[in-house]
Amino acid sequence: MKIICIGRNYANHAKELNNPVPQEPIFFLKPDVALLKNGGDFYYPSFTKEIHYECELVIRIDKIGKHIKEAFAPKYYSSISLGIDFTARDLQEECKQKGMPWEKAKAFEHSAPMSDLFLPVADLDLNNLSFSLQKNGEVVQRGNSSDMIFHIDQIIAYVSQFFTLKTGDLIFTGTPEGVGPIQIGDQLEGFIGEQKMFSFQIK
Ligand code: MG
Repeated sequence: MKIICIGRNYANHAKELNNPVPQEPIFFLKPDVALLKNGGDFYYPSFTKEIHYECELVIRIDKIGKHIKEAFAPKYYSSISLGIDFTARDLQEECKQKGMPWEKAKAFEHSAPMSDLFLPVADLDLNNLSFSLQKNGEVVQRGNSSDMIFHIDQIIAYVSQFFTLKTGDLIFTGTPEGVGPIQIGDQLEGFIGEQKMFSFQIK
């Protein structure tokens, strides 16, 4: 199983980090051990002093495929969930400045906490799906899939040119603006619409 993450997929988030709005999808991978499920506690690692939350809609692939045409992409997923692309922003800045890969900043253990719950897409409007993240009971991020630069089917078509997508692969579809730091003791709760998707603590 692989975790594919899309970067800078919301124009206002690209702007808040002074990044250009991309002309084609930017993606990177996290290993399977990045997953943190079942509302497990996240333990703040010692190699960074600045972890940011990035709340993102997550698609699960449920059929193997490569070179998937955009028009056929909907046949490759049937449910959607919510997760966080934890980012060690201090390490990421260092990697960006040196032109180095992002793995240290993005792919570390438990850098992808996510919900156990997957919502059937047949019941949802994927072009107008709102989601939000609360930190200690206050909303810190609000997003809507309508603001994605590259929508889900375009992402699947794009990344499947480079490698086969397999059943169980997860695609984190990018974060809206409002990213910010976490601290030990914080409680993070994610919602798709009114549906609570996850809740866990930083320790
Ligand atoms: Mg992200």
